[in-house]
Amino acid sequence: MWIILPTATPDGLSTLPRGDAAGTAAESVSPSTRSLSSLVTVVAFLALHAAALYAVFFVELTWGAALLMLAVYVGRGFGLTAGYHRYFAHRAYKTSRPFQFVLGLMGASALQRGPVWWAGHHRTHHKHTDDDLDPHSPVVKSVWWSHIGWVLSNKYNGTEWGLMKDFQKYPEIKYLERFDLIPGILLAVACYAAGALTGAGGLSSLFWAFFFGTVVLYHSTFMVNSVCHLFGSRRYATKDQSRNNAFVAFVTLGEGWHNNHHHYPSSARQGFKWYEFDTSYYILKVLSVFGVVWDLRAPTPRGLAARTRSATPAA
Ligand SMILES: [Zn+2]
Ligand SMILES: [Zn+2]
Repeated sequence: MWIILPTATPDGLSTLPRGDAAGTAAESVSPSTRSLSSLVTVVAFLALHAAALYAVFFVELTWGAALLMLAVYVGRGFGLTAGYHRYFAHRAYKTSRPFQFVLGLMGASALQRGPVWWAGHHRTHHKHTDDDLDPHSPVVKSVWWSHIGWVLSNKYNGTEWGLMKDFQKYPEIKYLERFDLIPGILLAVACYAAGALTGAGGLSSLFWAFFFGTVVLYHSTFMVNSVCHLFGSRRYATKDQSRNNAFVAFVTLGEGWHNNHHHYPSSARQGFKWYEFDTSYYILKVLSVFGVVWDLRAPTPRGLAARTRSATPAA
């Protein structure tokens, strides 16, 4: 599982950058260690799903726990969409070094590994969208592989520091990358404590806000890679099979406008029309008013219009 892999590398620090070395740290990891990592990943992943199912059948959902679940979902979702994706992978806006770290912490609390691992593989996805080198194309490989198989396999254990050199100068990001389990563990403890202290119920909050929410967030994130390259509309005739999908956009705080995104990846906004709701962008706009983030990149009018007419439904 993602949550175990970093500590499963032989020297731990092998996931840190080494000069100008390109390629992945996985190349320095022995095949047996990688297989063990993959096994641990699968077991941990199944355990999280079991905890989420246990919540559904055996743990009462209190109102307090439901509210906490929603808040934690949006908070972690924002860490992934506005943080890991739009900031770390695409540099679609600017922010301070402390808030950059906060974004990394929020994303890491979703147990989807560190920001550099996540964003590095995402940069590969944009470089090779729907071709043989795409880590998770449902067009080239299977729906299963694009949705979940690629994270359960040992093929992408390594962190693509070669593609993420812009973050090599931040030691706090390197440590976050190395200890990427810690934010999630702290969040689990905080969920239990918040529930116990407020009367919402410690176990109810832990199981619903943390375990159940983690699993739902996994699959909503994964749907961007699987569903959004198969089902939806294509406004732009991009070279890939990316689609705009309103349902995925709803559950991922705006990431489902994936054809828009592949057409104009550097934009902080992914919903290009007024009706294409983009919760992460709305939050970023509010934060920009307070100077927490700035220089939000937006598509030019020409960029917005480009290739619209030649767009064709993809096979
Ligand atoms: Zn894509
Ligand atoms: Zn992207």
